[in-house]
Amino acid sequence: MNINVKILKYSFALAVSVSVLIAALVMTVFNEEKTNQVSVSYVRPENPEYLHIYTLLYEKNHSLKKLQELLSPFRLPWTLVIVLNECDGEADAMYHDGTITICYEYVNELWNAMPANTTKAGIEPIDTVVGPFMDTILHEFAHALFDYLDIPVLGREEDAADQFSAYLYLQLDPAEARRLIMGTVYTYMVEVENTAPPSLEEFAGEHSTSEQRRFNLLCMAYGSNPEHFKDVAIRGELPKYRMDICEEEYELIELAYNTLITPHIDPELAEKVFNKKWLPKKTSRMLIKQDLNHLKRH
Ligand SMILES: [Zn+2]
Repeated sequence: MNINVKILKYSFALAVSVSVLIAALVMTVFNEEKTNQVSVSYVRPENPEYLHIYTLLYEKNHSLKKLQELLSPFRLPWTLVIVLNECDGEADAMYHDGTITICYEYVNELWNAMPANTTKAGIEPIDTVVGPFMDTILHEFAHALFDYLDIPVLGREEDAADQFSAYLYLQLDPAEARRLIMGTVYTYMVEVENTAPPSLEEFAGEHSTSEQRRFNLLCMAYGSNPEHFKDVAIRGELPKYRMDICEEEYELIELAYNTLITPHIDPELAEKVFNKKWLPKKTSRMLIKQDLNHLKRH
């Protein structure tokens, strides 16, 4: 082979290798996981029936901004958007393709089911909205994490998303975790009281039934700290035989979380953010309404 042809061949091979290396580097930089990747947006509802939800979540509490900060320690390769929007009458929440949508219809349903005053079990009215609202967003956030980070899931994804949400609750301030869990359990219990027992078709669904989701949440709370959550588990009617295995269940979930999720969390930021106080003051439904009316007038 002629020496010039040889040099040409080597140069070409070198050029190809360098290009491949640059492409790989660009991909790595492009997909680099970083903190503060959640962005939020509130679409003002066209239906006037939902304006009070817009006022409550956006103008009054900046609820999504708080969630954005709470989720800031998670290192993600791409931005994730959380948006509050109308959903053509569907009371729902969903994750799809980089966006979590929380429907006004869903929050309005929680609002309408809010008790007037503190319940006999000691649950604050506002917690029956904030608890399930946060639980739902964290559940959808779990779907996003599984998708963004290729997290392997054994068992049903819907149950894993519930477990992620409950686990995160339990990393927060214990008094706030308690309020969130009681508020969420209340909503499951009301749902069960107001609907007929699940049909055979519902058992075939991808989600566990509301009854099971309530017991699973209570079991995780009790398993994480039996002393702190014993009364909550008893008031939520968690049977003794299930209580006996909750600590083991919690440990298994904790192992999965620490193996699969913790490597994608900034520990210093998490320490700072998870220990903050997040929940609004305990107030009756009437006071919240008065507050909203006051805001409307100004
Ligand atoms: Zn789900």
